[in-house]
Amino acid sequence: MTEHSGSCHCGAIRLLLRDQPSEVSECNCSICRRVAGLWHYCPPAAVTVTGTGIGYIQGDRFLTNWHCGTCGCITHWTANDPHYEKMGINLRMFDPVLWESLPHRFVDGASF
Ligand SMILES: [Zn+2]
Repeated sequence: MTEHSGSCHCGAIRLLLRDQPSEVSECNCSICRRVAGLWHYCPPAAVTVTGTGIGYIQGDRFLTNWHCGTCGCITHWTANDPHYEKMGINLRMFDPVLWESLPHRFVDGASF
């Protein structure tokens, strides 16, 4: 199985992804446009997160954005509904070889 490992800048939060991204998603919602994440959406079962981040729950309370309390990197988001089958990981935490040549999909989150 393909595995990719990434981390925040200081290494306190580590992400192990068992999935192969085929595109990166950029979203223009109020938080994504500020943090400039490049997202890969996948089932939570495909990701192992090590380390404790700080969660930020925004407006509609649908999801929590996680960042490192030491270096500040936004690493991933999780849905607040435990039955929701997707989470997002920020591909910028990974080696650019994994994502730099992938097509970008623009998500119009601002209009949701
Ligand atoms: Zn960090």
